[in-house]
Amino acid sequence: MAMSPSPIKPATVLIVGAGIVGPALALLLKQKGYHPVVVEKVRERGDVGVAISLQPNGMKVMHLAGVASELLHGPPSTPVTQRWDEFTDTGEFLGGPGSELLGGFPEKYGMPVIGLTRTRLQTVLWDACQRKGIPIHTGWRLARLDDDDNGTGSSSGDKDHDDDGEGGGAIMARSEDGRSIRADMVIGCDGLKSRTRDLLVEKRGGTNKDPDFTGVVVLGGACPTPKSLETPAIRIWYGQEMAVISHCLEDGMSVWGLNYGREKAAESWRTVPAEELADEVTKTLALVDGWAEPVREMIATSRKMMTIGLYDRPELPVEQWYHGRCVLVGDAAHPTTPHVGQGANQGLEDAWHLVDLLPRCDELSPKTLSAGELEGIFHQLASIRQGPTTMMVQQARAQGELRVVKDKSPDARKKRDDLIRAKWQDVGALQGMFDMMYNGPFRL
Ligand SMILES: Cc1cc2nc3c(=O)[nH]c(=O)nc-3n(C[C@H](O)[C@H](O)[C@H](O)COP(=O)(O)OP(=O)(O)OC[C@H]3O[C@@H](n4cnc5c(N)ncnc54)[C@H](O)[C@@H]3O)c2cc1C
Repeated sequence: MAMSPSPIKPATVLIVGAGIVGPALALLLKQKGYHPVVVEKVRERGDVGVAISLQPNGMKVMHLAGVASELLHGPPSTPVTQRWDEFTDTGEFLGGPGSELLGGFPEKYGMPVIGLTRTRLQTVLWDACQRKGIPIHTGWRLARLDDDDNGTGSSSGDKDHDDDGEGGGAIMARSEDGRSIRADMVIGCDGLKSRTRDLLVEKRGGTNKDPDFTGVVVLGGACPTPKSLETPAIRIWYGQEMAVISHCLEDGMSVWGLNYGREKAAESWRTVPAEELADEVTKTLALVDGWAEPVREMIATSRKMMTIGLYDRPELPVEQWYHGRCVLVGDAAHPTTPHVGQGANQGLEDAWHLVDLLPRCDELSPKTLSAGELEGIFHQLASIRQGPTTMMVQQARAQGELRVVKDKSPDARKKRDDLIRAKWQDVGALQGMFDMMYNGPFRL
């Protein structure tokens, strides 16, 4: 591991990406005395994606970041998920953990499972950053990271932020349009197509490959919650070569997602234009002809629809999670498909572990860290997180394949349905799986 000759105070932490993990990490770092600065490539906060489910492990991190209460109680308040029910396409019950298990999550794990729109989640996080005086520079797309070993690096173009540090090593991050920010540490929270990851892998002498298409596409929508689905629950209906998943959101709305197999698809989160919505609804209803009524009702009443190709990446070797003063967390390190609902939750766990490993950095107890010491911390982080995140990515991919059963024979479908029935009957295994996922990253 390279040792820097001159230690510096790691005051300014540049966070690349203000999706989910970036702003949550910024809030945690601020509490530990650091000076986080967030950059985000999009120009303005928009209506992002459809929805997301936060589970107890991620919600515990949100609690420490100071936003769990707002996420839960609003306004608007978020319904707490009470059940998890799975059905065949025609509505025959296959099984699932009922309210005796899910309803007990707050007591057992400290936090419940909730579903909410991504737009609301991002609004809560960005507003909290603003209240804490954490800058989020929008329209700032990372292009390059240069070592600035003697602290004399100069910026080209507009300077968003000018921290002198204390000499010694630092990093000069440069945007595509020529702006620069000098930081003591850079954390890549820039998601599936992370530029930070490209740069770190290159610094290690490798070439970052493109993410892998998993052969599954999700066509999703937001709609008013049908009367028959008012008990807040995660629900999945399994059909031939496709499955529909839904959960309740705030404001009496629900989200549904139709998962199906396809040879090729872009990752892009393409919202169906308003003028095409009625046609898209009709086409989608044709795909679920004969399915249970609530599924058809959700699709028929959709107010927004979106298609997303699902991608992930193979595991990143521990040494490639970091280089010098830079490290990756969240999807930048381990992008996953959504089939176990853990992508963001695992990214939040990364954020907590990173902040837990870093020493306090505030006026009262100044702490200096060399690049070598930082690499030691980043190595510990990657060593803790690589195993669990790899397992989640693999489980999610397997779960996605199970949902869309690409083998078209009726036998394959029956086998899948039998597997699901058996899975939900093994209460001990189920409890073990929840414990493994939700006991981390700390007890509340
Ligand atoms: C359909 C779908 C449903 C999902 N549902 C769930 C769920 O229910 N629960 C769950 O836990 N996970 C879910 N996930 C996964 C979850 O969305 C991701 O794991 C999560 O968003 C990762 O958070 P992140 O902050 O690491 O990255 P992101 O949320 O992707 O944020 C990255 C940010 O970086 C910005 N950025 C990118 N490049 C640059 C650059 N060069 N410079 C500056 N900024 C940049 C981007 O604009 C973006 O704002 C789902 C994923 C999909 C596709």
